[in-house]
Amino acid sequence: MATAYPFARPLYVMAKPAGPLCNLRCQYCYYLEKQHLQPPFVSPEVEGIKASPRGGMEGAVLEQYIRDYIQVQQMPDVLFTWHGGEPMLKPLSFYKQAVRLQQYYGRGKRISNSIQTNGLYLTPEWCQFLHDEGWLVGISIDGTKEQHDAYRLDAQGKGTWERVMNGIKLLNEYGVEWNAMATANHHNAQDPMAFYHFFRDELKCKFLQISPVVERIKEHSDGRHLAQVFDEDCPIAPFSIRPEEWGHFMCAIFDEWVRHDVGEVFVQLFDATLAGWMGAEPGVCVYAEECGHAAVMEHNGDVYSCDHFVFPQYKLGNIRTHGLPQMLYGTKQNNFSRLKKEALPRQCRECLWLKACHGECPRLRFLHTADGEPGLNYLCAGYRIFFQHVAPYMDYMRQELLAGRPASGVMRLF
Ligand code: SF4
Ligand code: SF4
Repeated sequence: MATAYPFARPLYVMAKPAGPLCNLRCQYCYYLEKQHLQPPFVSPEVEGIKASPRGGMEGAVLEQYIRDYIQVQQMPDVLFTWHGGEPMLKPLSFYKQAVRLQQYYGRGKRISNSIQTNGLYLTPEWCQFLHDEGWLVGISIDGTKEQHDAYRLDAQGKGTWERVMNGIKLLNEYGVEWNAMATANHHNAQDPMAFYHFFRDELKCKFLQISPVVERIKEHSDGRHLAQVFDEDCPIAPFSIRPEEWGHFMCAIFDEWVRHDVGEVFVQLFDATLAGWMGAEPGVCVYAEECGHAAVMEHNGDVYSCDHFVFPQYKLGNIRTHGLPQMLYGTKQNNFSRLKKEALPRQCRECLWLKACHGECPRLRFLHTADGEPGLNYLCAGYRIFFQHVAPYMDYMRQELLAGRPASGVMRLF
């Protein structure tokens, strides 16, 4: 595999220690079905590593990942992200070992860790560890009890909101730093103010990431129900947010935020949009010009182009047999990254909002444009509503920033 532009950008590989396994059965989850893709989810290249999803990542894979990941970094800071599935299905001892290995192989680097969890397994012991090691916790929660329990169910079909809230309470008691990761779906999109007020006023959340849920249905003989990115003509899953819902949902939240909370509450889409207005990097791949500076490593060491492209076609190799630079700066990943820009339909290339949207994520580009060109993002109509609505405020905030004043000056307009 040819290697192009080595070390031209930071190298980031998120790890999935428990693979696709999870204690919950959220109805919209795209990752649970990965258990079917490669039964028994053991990489064919790796002889002797019996990494079944029941046990998750084994010590040899963990050590190689930590050693290689630190070794290839050109920057002084190294970020580890533990993701899932549910990463807390691995015991705390696994993460204590990870910290020991990070210290051993650290070579003077500044190492930080974040873990994305549904929060149900948080205990005092876990919280003490997270606090002492300074880990950042991302908690998945979809709003009020009524909003969250619409789709975020356990294996018995029961709602999980109260247990998540208990986890958040524990995090607060132990002074653990945490952020909220919410989805916007067909249910909670109906009440954006209940959603936003819950995060701002009840959780006192300062950083909020909102991801639109969009999946399509395709029944497979092995029990999977969701379509893959390249499947065509599949109906939208009922829990998916519709394009106009997405636009109006984010506009309603923006209107509240821009009057009261600029500089106090950070909503990822608003930050990314302002970055687009400023001509800066948005900090999140879906609004960036190119994809893919964030690969994922499954529990067995297999590395894929992106969390949303964990399909055999997008496998870059295995950490036991391939070097990380070879996989991440190689032709296959470079082609994957560039395709986001190169495959844009003309409607996007000529769009007024391209600077902030960039056609959003390629996994959702399954529509055709008005003149029949493929590759239009399913949420385009929603983004057009949103960008049109926020444009005057973004113009104003841009001017403030260029004049050396804080963007929060926009609140004086009201
Ligand atoms: S496919 Fe989507 S999620 Fe993956 S890197 Fe590209 S923009 Fe990001
Ligand atoms: S708003 Fe629509 S047309 Fe414009 S860049 Fe985004 S997806 Fe493309």
